[in-house]
Amino acid sequence: MTTPQGADDELFDVVIIGAGAAGLAAGLYAARSRLKAVLLERLGAGGQLGLTEWIDDYPGFPEGISAADLTLAMEAQTRRFGLEITYDEAVAVALTEKVKVVTGGQRVYRAKTVIIASGGQPARLGVPGEVEFQGRGVSYCAVCDGAFFQDQPLAVVGGGDSAVEEGDFLTRYASHVTIIHRRDELRAAKILQERAFANPKISFLWNTVVEEIRGDAAVSGLRLRNVKTGAESALAVKGVFIFIGYRPNTAFLAGQVALDPNGYIVTDEAMRTNLPGVFAAGDVRQKVLRQLTTAVADGSIAALSADAYIKEHW
Ligand code: NAP
Repeated sequence: MTTPQGADDELFDVVIIGAGAAGLAAGLYAARSRLKAVLLERLGAGGQLGLTEWIDDYPGFPEGISAADLTLAMEAQTRRFGLEITYDEAVAVALTEKVKVVTGGQRVYRAKTVIIASGGQPARLGVPGEVEFQGRGVSYCAVCDGAFFQDQPLAVVGGGDSAVEEGDFLTRYASHVTIIHRRDELRAAKILQERAFANPKISFLWNTVVEEIRGDAAVSGLRLRNVKTGAESALAVKGVFIFIGYRPNTAFLAGQVALDPNGYIVTDEAMRTNLPGVFAAGDVRQKVLRQLTTAVADGSIAALSADAYIKEHW
């Protein structure tokens, strides 16, 4: 990546916010459409890919591919077509006028269109061991990491739709899944509950919170506390999947773009938001499946929609 250069009065065709899979795909399609594009990334490319080690479900890699290698390959591919990728964090935006303004930490970007691909992050438990064992038994993605735990005991934390649905999914691989919930009643939809209750490989620990994730080279178990009795216990597991909510990165939009009740950006099929010339792609968007494949699809569509918008309105 480069550090930001250029005059503040430079006008881009498109500013893409976020270099996860959606932003990189948007950048690739924008560059191939010969749009004057800049992709802003605050930390490093990859987004949610950084949460996992190995990708087994991205078409085209029969043996799988490391998440880091896939990120590097995606970044290199966008660069091959001349995309400018810049380390800068979008801290504020003004998106309602024809010329959009994205204020970065280092400079101001003016553009005809903006693609918001700022992603989000899984909510964290904030307990000891969670950060240390991420990618070594702590996961936030069952579809990504479940298959690594063939015939192993797993724990799932949470009581919402994600925890119950993903817990059920994990029984395809795991010897057993223990769903740990802080209350004695699930928040998840009844149909998901019924499926989980009927699954002989799932058991529940109610009124229970995780106090610590333990292990050596990888996770070996959890220290738990019953919130009603205060009693502590231990649970031996090889992996713990945490599904206690997801936080889309939309704070910097300061209410300018329409969000759904869960905080995700509402778009149509062409990735158009409620604001002309403003598009959203990837995990930050309201959608049914948050996967690498769908992020890449969103980004590609958003870039072509931005191109079409420019042709029509500029
Ligand atoms: P969610 O509905 O917000 O549920 C989060 C769960 O985590 C709740 O059970 C909550 O407990 C628990 N929790 C929160 N903070 C915690 C903490 N610090 N420690 C322990 N437990 C904690 O999140 P979600 O399941 O990711 O779902 C998000 C949205 O996506 C929802 O609207 C959901 O309906 C939707 N969704 C739908 C589907 C589907 O339809 N198939 C699948 C996935 C998600 P409490 O219940 O005690 O608050």
